Amino acid sequence: RHSEALWQALSHSATQPQRRLLNHYTSQDPNPQPPPPIPNNTSTRPFTLAVKDNIATTSPSPSPSPSLPTTCASPFLKTYHSPIEATIVTQLRSRGAVVIGKTNLDEFGMGSHSTHSAFGAVSHNGRSAGGSSGGSAVAVATGEVDLALGTDTGGSVRLPAAYTGVVGFKPSYGMVSRFGVVPYANSLDTVAFLATTVKRVEEVVVGTEEEGVGVWVEGDKRDPTCLSGRSRRRLAKMREGYGGTGKKGEWGLEGLVFGLPVEYNIFELDARIRAAWVAAAEALVRCGARVVPVSLPTTRQALAAYYVIAPAEASSNLAKYDGVRYGTRISGQSDAAAGGVLYAASRDAGFGEEVKRRILLGSYTLSSAAMDNYFLRAQAVRRLVRRDFDRVFRLGNPLVDDDEGRQQFDLSDLDEAVPMRDKLGPEEVDFLVCPTAPTTAPRLERVLGDEGDGEGDVVDAYVNDVFTVPASLAGLPAVSLPVGVVGEDGKGKDVAGLQVIGQYWDDARLLGVAGRLE
Ligand code: GLN
Repeated sequence: RHSEALWQALSHSATQPQRRLLNHYTSQDPNPQPPPPIPNNTSTRPFTLAVKDNIATTSPSPSPSPSLPTTCASPFLKTYHSPIEATIVTQLRSRGAVVIGKTNLDEFGMGSHSTHSAFGAVSHNGRSAGGSSGGSAVAVATGEVDLALGTDTGGSVRLPAAYTGVVGFKPSYGMVSRFGVVPYANSLDTVAFLATTVKRVEEVVVGTEEEGVGVWVEGDKRDPTCLSGRSRRRLAKMREGYGGTGKKGEWGLEGLVFGLPVEYNIFELDARIRAAWVAAAEALVRCGARVVPVSLPTTRQALAAYYVIAPAEASSNLAKYDGVRYGTRISGQSDAAAGGVLYAASRDAGFGEEVKRRILLGSYTLSSAAMDNYFLRAQAVRRLVRRDFDRVFRLGNPLVDDDEGRQQFDLSDLDEAVPMRDKLGPEEVDFLVCPTAPTTAPRLERVLGDEGDGEGDVVDAYVNDVFTVPASLAGLPAVSLPVGVVGEDGKGKDVAGLQVIGQYWDDARLLGVAGRLE
């Protein structure tokens, strides 16, 4: 549906690498360079890295290959080369990363199947790779890279991980710098990681004695939502005594309490995934942990709130793509005479259907007539979602509680005023365990719909995020682990994802425990 004119313009100017692209890449480095040895870092062991194409990359100097474009899988940015590199890419290069390519995604990260892309749909053996970081997940699942970067706004790393059978980790909001990451919904966006094992993720995020310090200690002044060094030290102090050294083998499951949120046991949950969930709970008990049911009542409203907040922020973020300030320009007329026509023509050709849908949705919910009923209500739901989590976790939420666990802010303006420390019931859990998605990966042709244009049932795609958005709204760390299930026809093997969610800034312990559950 993209304008013919734009496609022609792009195919002339595009700097595509010579080799054939696999559909899970948007571009690949034909000549990836190992990083120069970094004297101040204990880790110089190179590892291959794929980077989701909404994360800016430049070429490491000296490098014979030109820099890889940063396209966000949008026709608007198909030839865009960023002048800056994302902080996370630089951080990983200094730990030995060799960037081998940029991976395909849903345009600007909007989608759940990696089918809304100017580069065509990502396929994982004919099935959906999940979205929006589907390309990164396939690069890991096929063994092409050791580690892949994605972004997780409402589940975009955890869902692809579940569908492709790899590990996907979304850190606490504000832990990893978003500088150089093209924003989708700033208050929800996180850089997230995909690998075949938890250990690989742990090495770069938390760090180990052999591999050196993880990225989680490093703040970044260029991202105002990235926690400062001072805040990080304060948080580390609050988490003392709850593990967190990141040393191997220090993590036990004995004595831990895992909560099974009853609201996640929905009618639509695939029976095979429910069985895997129960089996995981039984395994936890055998390992000496306690498993208790918990209630997170606002879960039911979380998906609706997410699909108000995320498009609202997106519509604001995407306003700058107008063919003048950003993005490929479509102009038949001279700029002065064009007026709004230039903007409209560029935006019409430059954005895909799903992105346009989000812009319309966001512009509507932010409009003066609808704002009170949608955007503000969604923000209230968001706070209730976070409070649900705070009520069940043993640890306090450092964003809300002070160092002694006392509430810092007055939340009495919320619908029902309940003190933060008023946990519902006696059980206080360390982690929550639940499915990552209600189903296994659907066949790609089902997702693409009858016309094969990626416009299958739109709302159906949104529903896939039902189990991942609550942790996103609350800014909590969550990891999706692969679990084997039987094939759909009762024969053969299939894979699903189990999610473990932790309290804010409990990432190190979450990864340590997840490593034991693998
Ligand atoms: N599927 C969700 C959406 O389309 C999540 C996307 C994401 O996490 N980037 O908004």
